[in-house]
Amino acid sequence: MPTNHKKRRSCGAVRARKTGADLLHDPLLNKGTAFTDAERRSLGLVGLLPPKVSTLAQQSTRVMTNVRKRGTDLEKYVDMLSLLDRNETLFYRVVIDNITELMPIIYTPVVGAACQLYAHLFRRSRGLFITKKEKGRIRQVLRSWPQKDVRVIVVTDGQRILGLGDLGASGMAIPVGKLALYTACGGIPPSATLPVTLDVGTNNPALLGDPLYLGVSERRIEGREYDALVEEFVEAVREVFPKALLQFEDFANHNAFRLLERYRDRICCFNDDIQGTASVTLAGLYSAGRITKRKLADEKILFHGAGEAAIGIGDLVVGAMTAEGLSKQEAMSRCWFMDSKALVDSSRKDLQDHKKPYAHAHPHGPVTDLLSAVKALKPTALIGVSGQAAQFTREIVAEMARLNDRPLVFALSNPTSNSECTAEQAYAWSDGRAIFASGSPFDPVVFQGRTFLPGQGNNAYIFPGVGLGVVAAGAKRVTDEMFFKAARALAALVTEDDLAQGALFPPLTKVREISAGIAEAVAKVAYERRLASGPKPKDLLKRIKALQYQPEYKTYV
Ligand code: NAD
Repeated sequence: MPTNHKKRRSCGAVRARKTGADLLHDPLLNKGTAFTDAERRSLGLVGLLPPKVSTLAQQSTRVMTNVRKRGTDLEKYVDMLSLLDRNETLFYRVVIDNITELMPIIYTPVVGAACQLYAHLFRRSRGLFITKKEKGRIRQVLRSWPQKDVRVIVVTDGQRILGLGDLGASGMAIPVGKLALYTACGGIPPSATLPVTLDVGTNNPALLGDPLYLGVSERRIEGREYDALVEEFVEAVREVFPKALLQFEDFANHNAFRLLERYRDRICCFNDDIQGTASVTLAGLYSAGRITKRKLADEKILFHGAGEAAIGIGDLVVGAMTAEGLSKQEAMSRCWFMDSKALVDSSRKDLQDHKKPYAHAHPHGPVTDLLSAVKALKPTALIGVSGQAAQFTREIVAEMARLNDRPLVFALSNPTSNSECTAEQAYAWSDGRAIFASGSPFDPVVFQGRTFLPGQGNNAYIFPGVGLGVVAAGAKRVTDEMFFKAARALAALVTEDDLAQGALFPPLTKVREISAGIAEAVAKVAYERRLASGPKPKDLLKRIKALQYQPEYKTYV
């Protein structure tokens, strides 16, 4: 893994590669007011900073005091991104120390608004933009990136940003935010991360008509032209950053599944919307099983939604159920899906390829609403991933509670305003028996004198650890087994205390430790399956923890 300052000096200090204003303007090296008097004298900084030297802790207090004074979450986001542009060490110190408070600011849900306003808020460029004009020379574009040892790339084409649709080049805030979480939660050094947007145009009329829009103001390229651009990009990544993990993010349905199928066995890549979501949800199901005393193979799951999240979860659950002894066919028959039209079943002639394997036969005739589907199928678990708000009505939750002593109700759609039901509704409508998880955070709920801590099935529990494990082992591929083991590792970290309060996930404050545990599980798969580069270290966990980036200032003199 790369280090920012290679030549170590005998006293533990490192040589600064820059001096004066250049040093202050390099966010990877800058310490701002924390440069000591000796450093200021030796590095040409005297007079360029206010005289008093601050500690990292004092700087952190200053940042949080200011952020908390901001009137809106978007202003907080802008504050934090400006800090990232000035001083990465301080940014990560602040984020790590305030992860529960700041994760929703630097990532979902606030990053959604930041994408929508990207061109209007724009201050300074971050990441690489690749358009069709770069066709034939994408390698050169990648080579222009200042860091040479990139280990994790997040790429989007901006077509399906969160639940907000086609935001074109404005989607860049997503790879930027996601990679900030790879660093903050996983410990991937910031200098080893690269955000990329494939700006293939946009079909969003509002963006096409906005004179401030910063992307290519043309309709999206599609078909062969699109595929050829992605192919050149992937090959260029292989050549320029051969050790990099490529994570596909927020591609529209039709491209997400196709690209994953095309590249998963060719390069080291994964799609977090499909596989990361699956892993965190499977972890939630395992945790729920510790409360219900049911095995995963005992569950019958009805998914509301049949897109990337739903099918991704279904596929991983099927793998996990087969590990518990079911045949693949039996396991698949325990997963049912509803899309925007109706229940996905064998009578449907309009299904996209990714839904077809789950188009089971049933005797109930066409089922077009969720309540009828619940009554007909009698599921033990209801998982909402349609992006549609308020779909889990009182009647539906009550029916789940009538059918099951402990129904699983996972309202995973984001942001909070799209949640299928609130945590409070899930507990109230099931007489406190629902085992609830959500996509967006919910505050604790007091119901009939009992306090419930609703668990948030946040992908940030999984992808940073997967990335760290892949980097630690130098894994050549990312496999479903890795996500399966990651889910198990995450579920194993949920304590009896967490479960007693209805929390299916550990507190986010432990996310760096969780990521190290997941990284160990993922790296082990890489070593066992001969997908790793080099021999397995004696103490894998110790090695992984040693790799985790710590936001601490270097001493320059
Ligand atoms: P997607 O666009 O791939 O899929 C959406 C699916 O919902 C499609 O199959 C669509 O047909 C279906 N749908 C739309 N309207 C419907 C309706 N009225 N009734 C039934 N089905 C309907 O999106 P995705 O990536 O699968 O994400 C879906 C939702 O899941 C989003 O809200 C997203 O925020 C959330 N999500 C949560 C997590 C998490 O909690 N960790 C992770 C990923 C996605």
